[in-house]
Amino acid sequence: MDNFLKKAIELAIENVKEGGQPFGAVLVKDGEVIAEGVNELHIKHDISGHAELLAIRRAQEQLQTNDLTGMTMYASGFPCPMCFAAMNFAGVERVYYCASLEEAKSVGLGKSAVIYEDLQKQPEERLLPMVCMELEEGMENPMRLWKEFNKKNLL
Ligand SMILES: [Zn+2]
Repeated sequence: MDNFLKKAIELAIENVKEGGQPFGAVLVKDGEVIAEGVNELHIKHDISGHAELLAIRRAQEQLQTNDLTGMTMYASGFPCPMCFAAMNFAGVERVYYCASLEEAKSVGLGKSAVIYEDLQKQPEERLLPMVCMELEEGMENPMRLWKEFNKKNLL
């Protein structure tokens, strides 16, 4: 096993000993650790306080960029859909993980598996239904506005 993944697992173990969930993450670029994180749900009222997201947030603050192209995430457990999306948005290029979704589920941490399954359904049929409501006549459209602003910026 890779040393970076070993580090992520060590972070997860330390976190459990401190009362947290068994998740640690290490973000790496060109063989160097850029940032680390552990699941902080036991110390903060912040549902986004997942190991991977905190590592991403720290790296972006430190480097003053949203672009983490070329980085690799080492996560002690299979990332949840929120962290997976954040890694995609940030440009993280690969993820190595150890514990599977099934293993997490077997110890009572099964929400990620439920959400991944739910994402296979149509938006309005999900456990958390997403319902589209269209703009009413005369309302300004933020998407079109953004496109107009962007065109102006390109001139
Ligand atoms: Zn997550």
